[in-house]
Amino acid sequence: MLLHGIMSSIAEFYCRNLATEVIKGLSQKAAQGGTVTKAPIGYRNVGVRDEFGREVRTVEIDEERARLVRWAFQVFASGDWTTSQLHQELVARGLTTAASPRRPSRPIGKSSVHRMLTNPYYKGSVRYQGVTYAGVHEAIIPNEVWDQVQTVLGTHRSAADATQVHEHYLKGTVFCGQCGSRLLVCNAKSSQGTIYPYFVCASRHGGRGDCTRQAMLIEQVERLVERFYVKVQIDPETIEAVSAMIHARFDEMMAEGAAELADLASRRTQLGGEQQKLLQAHYAGAIPLDLLKREQDRITASLETIEHRITAHHGHYAAARENLDDSLKLLSNAADIYEHADDANRRLINQALFKAIYIDEDNDVRVGYRNPYDGLSLSGLHADALSWAAEAKKMGQVGTATKGGPLVASSHLTRLG
Ligand SMILES: [Zn+2]
Repeated sequence: MLLHGIMSSIAEFYCRNLATEVIKGLSQKAAQGGTVTKAPIGYRNVGVRDEFGREVRTVEIDEERARLVRWAFQVFASGDWTTSQLHQELVARGLTTAASPRRPSRPIGKSSVHRMLTNPYYKGSVRYQGVTYAGVHEAIIPNEVWDQVQTVLGTHRSAADATQVHEHYLKGTVFCGQCGSRLLVCNAKSSQGTIYPYFVCASRHGGRGDCTRQAMLIEQVERLVERFYVKVQIDPETIEAVSAMIHARFDEMMAEGAAELADLASRRTQLGGEQQKLLQAHYAGAIPLDLLKREQDRITASLETIEHRITAHHGHYAAARENLDDSLKLLSNAADIYEHADDANRRLINQALFKAIYIDEDNDVRVGYRNPYDGLSLSGLHADALSWAAEAKKMGQVGTATKGGPLVASSHLTRLG
């Protein structure tokens, strides 16, 4: 049943909301310049105590390795070295990765050298989810040296390969409409030297399969997704109807749950009585101490389970209702929110709503929604909700408001703002 699926996915959504909160926390840490992940080679993560004696994770320079990192940037900036030569020389000079609980220290890998040379962390910046922030850690490479290294890498790249893979906020969310492969970011250079970033099907790019999807200008794909958000957005009347219908269903479910709660409460009283009887029996010398202890433990465990279920029952519905409201609020303003979001937030919104966005050959956009948006976006549900709301309104007008009628609806609608 359609509505049932949505109810359970809203409950599930609670966990994903937590994930969103965590991501938000991490973004804020990066925005404040903190180091959100493992410190790169040349630095180390350390725990220090703040003025209140709390442990705070921070980063300090790993001088032994930092010395080699500085040397690497210096010589590479000269333009006389390839990354392979630099890699060999760094291994010879003993640059190793820092040991972690899972991995022992070992010589630096070749791809790590390229990652090191392009990491803005060394000049004091922190990059998170495609956005660069000013870091609070100490830089070990001067800005101009870091920039020079990027220029050298750029010339190597255009000489060797015009289709180097790059980052973009849509990467990982957009897929080829013809074969379903991921879309990769590539840069094409015109004869005048202008660079055009475009998306290309990973399967076609890698020469696998027989996909014939043409490359797409990134700018055009960005516009297509923006325009699709107009379709994602749900009009206010439908949002209100969907909200009212689902909240009314929640009310019914809570009422059904009330019977179970009453059972739990009487079971709790019964267990309390058993506890008393046991004690009296023990005092009367009828049962030995070890048996009393075993029985007490059993009863305490049961009581804890009951308390837990009673608390969970209330919390579960409150959280689910809140998540429903949040989800609907996003759907009611989706186009506006997306239009005004920066790249990092666009990535988050896309990831929250969609499993995948497919770009078809004729520039049609198809999407796979995630829970609970897949259910909430169904036109069938919208039609049901609108007729449910019309019915509820009619009942209200003749003065026979029933359980889940307009009274419930209006009280919840105000919360949507
Ligand atoms: Zn393809």
